[in-house]
Amino acid sequence: MAEQNYPIYGEITGPIVMIGFGSIGRGTLPLIERHFKFDKSRMVVIEPRNDEAELLARHGVRHIQAHVTKDNYKELLKPLLTEGEGQGFCVNLSVDISSVDLMKLCRKHDVLYIDTVVEPWHGFYFDKDKDNAARTNYALRETMRKEKFKSPGGATAVSTCGANPGMVSWFVKQALINLANEIGVKYDEPSQDDREGWAKLMKKLGVKGVHIAERDTQRTKHPKPLNVFWNTWSVEGFISEGLQPAELGWGTNEKWMPKTAKKFKKGHKSAIYLEQAGANTRVRSWCPTPGPQYGFLVTHNEAISIAEYFTVHDKDGDVNYRPTCHYAYHPSNDAVISLHEMFGNGGNAQPVLHVLNEDELEDGVDELGVLLYGHEKNAYWYGSRLSLEETRKLAPYQNATGLQVTSAVLAGMVWAFENPRSGIVEADEMDYKRCLEVQMPYLGPVEGHYTNWTPLDGRPGLFPEDLDHSDPWQFRNILVR
Ligand code: NAD
Repeated sequence: MAEQNYPIYGEITGPIVMIGFGSIGRGTLPLIERHFKFDKSRMVVIEPRNDEAELLARHGVRHIQAHVTKDNYKELLKPLLTEGEGQGFCVNLSVDISSVDLMKLCRKHDVLYIDTVVEPWHGFYFDKDKDNAARTNYALRETMRKEKFKSPGGATAVSTCGANPGMVSWFVKQALINLANEIGVKYDEPSQDDREGWAKLMKKLGVKGVHIAERDTQRTKHPKPLNVFWNTWSVEGFISEGLQPAELGWGTNEKWMPKTAKKFKKGHKSAIYLEQAGANTRVRSWCPTPGPQYGFLVTHNEAISIAEYFTVHDKDGDVNYRPTCHYAYHPSNDAVISLHEMFGNGGNAQPVLHVLNEDELEDGVDELGVLLYGHEKNAYWYGSRLSLEETRKLAPYQNATGLQVTSAVLAGMVWAFENPRSGIVEADEMDYKRCLEVQMPYLGPVEGHYTNWTPLDGRPGLFPEDLDHSDPWQFRNILVR
């Protein structure tokens, strides 16, 4: 994109309050500057650390060096969100701040809101007094849904709109359309509001499940020393979710459950969790560059929301069809080693946590897509194959992982701006075409790839295995045991 050609999507007439200025906040700032008209003197970043103060000053953005806490958030944020004329926008890119409490505050004052995760207040993730069901993303998502249904409509608050959760929900819809055209199934494209129509299309195409299949090949210039945790995005975020129970949307196709599996007692029950840490749980999956690979079954909001969104019900309300859905994440090699060391040390994190920036990385690609499996073409991966090299040309202050997230935040902001009275929404409910249209220029090659690989390939090998040969795509064959 040439500098002069950046589309301006509109004018934010009120204050912009960004909370958290870590890897994602830093990368999102230049995209907001490029694509929205707004009064710079009315933008503020709340960030307890001071290491990016110079960058913020250079951009002419006010910095409030503070922690947002359960005790101070109303007092601190209300004046900032409501100062002056116009409609404000709260961009929450922090950790340890309750997304639902922020949403409520923003909506009460007619302020638009976006975040990338249903984040709880500090202390939730490692609370030993909570049982594992209470520490799941299912439980966190239920808090958001409770508020959504309690107060429908009103100012738009976009929940969990990063790359994943977020963009991948738009990819699932595009992948279904591509698959339908390829298979030659007759269909009318369901509208944005026709959830059941989309679910029926997925069922008609015979999709048994969806992996959010990611391979991050970004490499550091210098090898990782001992006693540091390196990652290409929030280390704190990754450790928190990695030590939550593994969780997955549980499809109607599944015939077997692992011994550690537990069902939920309340809510829509579209997911199950395993009594084991997600980042210490491996699954077999597939991405275009590596082909078959191991990924970690880290819990994510989209695993639950996609499984729920694509559920078909019988007339009497019983579940007739639901896809299995889960993350299969192969992070950067340094992050894999960091996890290995952390779990080797009883799950205790290294003393130094560090997010790798674009200057510390040499090369590589973040390949992030959705793998729709079990249909007549076997499996179809559709996603972004964004390289570090291309990222450097597209936008400053971020690596490839960051740009996939920040451009989804941009797309979510544009959608909220264009649909300001939609209440609390998840990416599954937004206009996928419009969102991808905004995001596409930042995603590098976005491609579809078919594969004949199945989780049964090469198995059993030298050792006996407990397999289901009747259906390669059973979770029994996918989970590494
Ligand atoms: P980061 O760790 O680099 O930055 C988080 C920032 O929040 C830090 O600078 C930290 O100082 C600040 N912070 C911590 N406590 C705070 C408080 N009480 N008040 C204000 N600020 C506080 O993380 P990141 O990589 O920038 O990620 C930001 C968020 O986005 C995380 O929640 C992460 O899980 C999420 N994320 C989502 C996706 C997605 O695709 N959906 C992808 C990456 C990150």
